[in-house]
Amino acid sequence: MLPRFWRKIKYRYNLIATKCENCGTYYYPPRNLCPKCRRRSQIVEVKLSGRGEVLSYSVVHDVPENMKEQKPYVVAMVKLDEGPVITAQLACEPREVRRGMRVKAAFRRCGEEGEAGIIYYCTKFVPE
Ligand SMILES: [Zn+2]
Repeated sequence: MLPRFWRKIKYRYNLIATKCENCGTYYYPPRNLCPKCRRRSQIVEVKLSGRGEVLSYSVVHDVPENMKEQKPYVVAMVKLDEGPVITAQLACEPREVRRGMRVKAAFRRCGEEGEAGIIYYCTKFVPE
């Protein structure tokens, strides 16, 4: 059993979801119980494909000081092929994005923090 912290990291960085084998529903973020099946839940961990399509999006113009270099940016609700919907940044030009566009998950630099210059990565989506 991994410590909680590392489990979280694992889920975030690898797009690990849980799936209820009883009804076939995927959960992301992962859940330990299927609310539909409850005691009949059969939860297993699965890696999501990271592929999906843009359900909706918005262009953010009001960008915090430390993200100025990527202004403006696109935030999209992405419906993954397995079913879960994720809200994440879309790494493309605002004029490129449209609803129904196919995208895939990628790891991108999200920011840098403090004097130590620790670089954070997170899941973003890129056009497929
Ligand atoms: Zn279920």
